[in-house]
Amino acid sequence: MAEPSSRDAVIIGGGHNGLTCAAYLAAAGLKVTVLERRAVVGGAAVTEEFHPGFRNSVASYTVSLLNPKVIRDLELARHGLRVVERKISNFLPLDDAQYLKVGGGITEGEVAKFSARDASRLSAYGERLDVIADVLRDMVLETPPNVTVAGWIESIPELLRGARLGRRISRLDMPMRRELLGLFVQSAGDYLDGWFESAPIKAAYGFDGIVGNYASPYTPGSAYVLLHHVFGEVNGKKGAWGHAIGGMGAITQAMAKAALERGVDIRLSSPVREVVVESGRAVGVVTESGEMLRARSIVSNLNPKLLFGRLIDPSALNDDFRERISRWRCGSGTFRMNVALSELPDFTALPGRTLAEHHTAGIIMAPSLAYMDQAYLDAKAGGWSKRPIVEMLIPSTLDDSLAPSGRHVASLFCQHVAPLLPNGASWDDHRDEVADLMIDLVNSHAPNFRAAVLGRQILSPLDLERTFGLIGGDIFHGALSLDQLFSARPMLGHADYRGPLAGLYMCGSGTHPGGGVTGAPGHNAAREIIADFRRGRLKQA
Ligand SMILES: Cc1cc2nc3c(=O)[nH]c(=O)nc-3n(C[C@H](O)[C@H](O)[C@H](O)COP(=O)(O)OP(=O)(O)OC[C@H]3O[C@@H](n4cnc5c(N)ncnc54)[C@H](O)[C@@H]3O)c2cc1C
Repeated sequence: MAEPSSRDAVIIGGGHNGLTCAAYLAAAGLKVTVLERRAVVGGAAVTEEFHPGFRNSVASYTVSLLNPKVIRDLELARHGLRVVERKISNFLPLDDAQYLKVGGGITEGEVAKFSARDASRLSAYGERLDVIADVLRDMVLETPPNVTVAGWIESIPELLRGARLGRRISRLDMPMRRELLGLFVQSAGDYLDGWFESAPIKAAYGFDGIVGNYASPYTPGSAYVLLHHVFGEVNGKKGAWGHAIGGMGAITQAMAKAALERGVDIRLSSPVREVVVESGRAVGVVTESGEMLRARSIVSNLNPKLLFGRLIDPSALNDDFRERISRWRCGSGTFRMNVALSELPDFTALPGRTLAEHHTAGIIMAPSLAYMDQAYLDAKAGGWSKRPIVEMLIPSTLDDSLAPSGRHVASLFCQHVAPLLPNGASWDDHRDEVADLMIDLVNSHAPNFRAAVLGRQILSPLDLERTFGLIGGDIFHGALSLDQLFSARPMLGHADYRGPLAGLYMCGSGTHPGGGVTGAPGHNAAREIIADFRRGRLKQA
């Protein structure tokens, strides 16, 4: 047996949650090593050059959910992070003549073009959603009540957590409780149909219900996904989405600096092959190069299916756990492209190639919920939709560090595509065909687009899995469905960031509160690990 190590924690994966967890652990005086498979930290929150001279946030592309406490505690601003707001939130080109703009104080007038009734209901809708989002905001940095089979003494903390949650909900009046229930169990489509009558505003809001969610907007539970996308804020402005100057990599580079300053040892190009288990306890890891690193705690930043399915000897896990984690639902329906552009898109519905506020928005190309529903049905039947959903963001309109002067970069977040293609087909054989389709869709709204493309990077679900370890291309490390949320994320009995083996912890998006660049799972996991150190539960490895 190797010499005992004085290392307190090995973190597998240097995604933003692994880095956040590392920084908090080190701040508590623990000795931490982060092992990252890629040559760069950040996981799905990275900025890379994808075409000579053009850099972009190659996977996640817009910021809102990053928790203000994490920003403060890790001093991300001091480490170089600056987030700016878009001029308006969204722009939806609907057809050759019509469009909708959302945000920037103009939503009411814009919605009134389609329905005066809908325009008059906007503020009530926003207020309700804000109240419910506040409940969620309060819960984001809490460990969910963990369902336990232990005795009553061990159950007390869980009962207290449950009571705190109950108290929070009891502060809501009855109409708000009904709203909360609706948002947790209804479909985004049903929820929005209850509020509005015109298609464009329902499409603008309903898009949040299918982001990273391989589902129709009429799938029950999709209203929660909508809610998940509104609990964030930008520079104190609730619900807003913004851009990190330098791209999403600026967030994770700042996190890495915070971790390094606190003494964390970050090792790049260091894939972990195996978690070492001795007498039912996780005691170390072995890297692909064969190096063994022992530590008192082993913390995984990985999708739970990746950790338990590939890195841990099946015989170390009990049958029920193994069986359940094999059924963990992953697969986003996401196809991601980065394009280098010679000029800005000139939309038929709102002409102009010079920079205007709509170019800074999340540009949603999907005019109605019915269109999104059909896109899902098409993808289920044939692998992708001929009329897909694309959100395009052009971050170079807010950040001149990404492209040469006068040129631009755009992120295309495209849905719906099947995580696994039918009839055994491979994304390796269909990547370019589907990428052309996405470009064609944008071109149908902005006819100068195709000719403006100087270079493109394509990330099919398979590429997202290969590059970032996102199983099935799942952007959230597992679907945000009711059976995979809160006390059930990643599984009843393991919602407290502790794995099924002593010394094993989870700090990635497969734990509460789930996906998105939040830093919350990393923050919460660190709190539980530090508590176990203080209680003397983590011994010499
Ligand atoms: C295409 C796409 C678009 C998105 N858009 C947004 C958005 O705009 N805004 C937003 O807030 N969220 C967005 N998300 C979601 C968000 O990016 C993720 O939920 C989040 O980044 C996950 O962070 P994480 O730290 O939990 O895990 P990850 O970022 O997945 O990090 C895990 C890390 O583990 C590493 N790893 C894997 N296997 C090993 C191994 N064996 N050994 C060592 N290291 C390993 C990986 O390389 C990776 O660095 C998007 C995600 C994707 C993919």
